[in-house]
Amino acid sequence: ILQVRHLSKRFGDNVVLRDINFETRHGNVICIIGASGSGKSTLLRCINMLETPTSGQILFHGQDITGKGININAYRAKVGMVFQSFNLFNNMTVLGNCMAGVTKVLKKDKKTAEETAMEYLSKVGMAEYINAKPHQLSGGQKQRVAIARALAMEPEMLLFDEPTSALDPQMVGEVLEVMRSLAKEGMTMVIVTHEMAFARDVSSRVVFMKDGVVAEEGEPAELFENPKQEATKDFLARFR
Ligand code: ATP
Ligand code: MG
Repeated sequence: ILQVRHLSKRFGDNVVLRDINFETRHGNVICIIGASGSGKSTLLRCINMLETPTSGQILFHGQDITGKGININAYRAKVGMVFQSFNLFNNMTVLGNCMAGVTKVLKKDKKTAEETAMEYLSKVGMAEYINAKPHQLSGGQKQRVAIARALAMEPEMLLFDEPTSALDPQMVGEVLEVMRSLAKEGMTMVIVTHEMAFARDVSSRVVFMKDGVVAEEGEPAELFENPKQEATKDFLARFR
């Protein structure tokens, strides 16, 4: 479904991503791990075209989305993103947040949008909160609404950038639980995370980034049990 080929990104003289290559198939979960500043967010932002790559290709169903004449909004409707800081619309209710993209981007009528929003809010356990505003919710609840909002677009793939890093420890579990069930249902996901136990359980493949390159990549059991690179060993040692 997604192939990243020879992707590089530079901000001025700062080379943040260097020749990144990986791919994911339909239904796979890729977890991206690595130290702060290694370029994980920049990589996700490039995949969603929130940043323009300096060079390389990002193929979605074989089509290069960095090319000219690509409808970026149509692409983004198929590839949802969930951020560390939720990015909910604070002036809208929970229900409004989940309906907005469905009416504005997918051009569905209000009734359909409401049904869709309700379906996914129920799925993340937030159906009781439809009239609440984001400021009335806990961090874990906000993130579950953000996931429901992304799901309401019925995307083909979801990108998560440290979805639990801004949460109090007691709320991490409820968000990971929602993500685990999405993985089980076969949702294609690319997840940047520091939750190693989660990454180990749900991923099809794990990508370890260091200083803007993929330092090691492999199946979770292999990468976590038998890391081949010194850098991977050092990084993982911090979580033991
Ligand atoms: P963290 O775990 O802290 O979120 P990260 O792996 O997501 O880190 P990035 O946010 O991708 O790392 O940043 C990688 C590097 O790119 C950093 O050196 C950062 O300063 C730089 N960078 C990121 N965004 C920009 C930008 N818009 N302009 C200039 N430099 C940037
Ligand atoms: Mg980041």
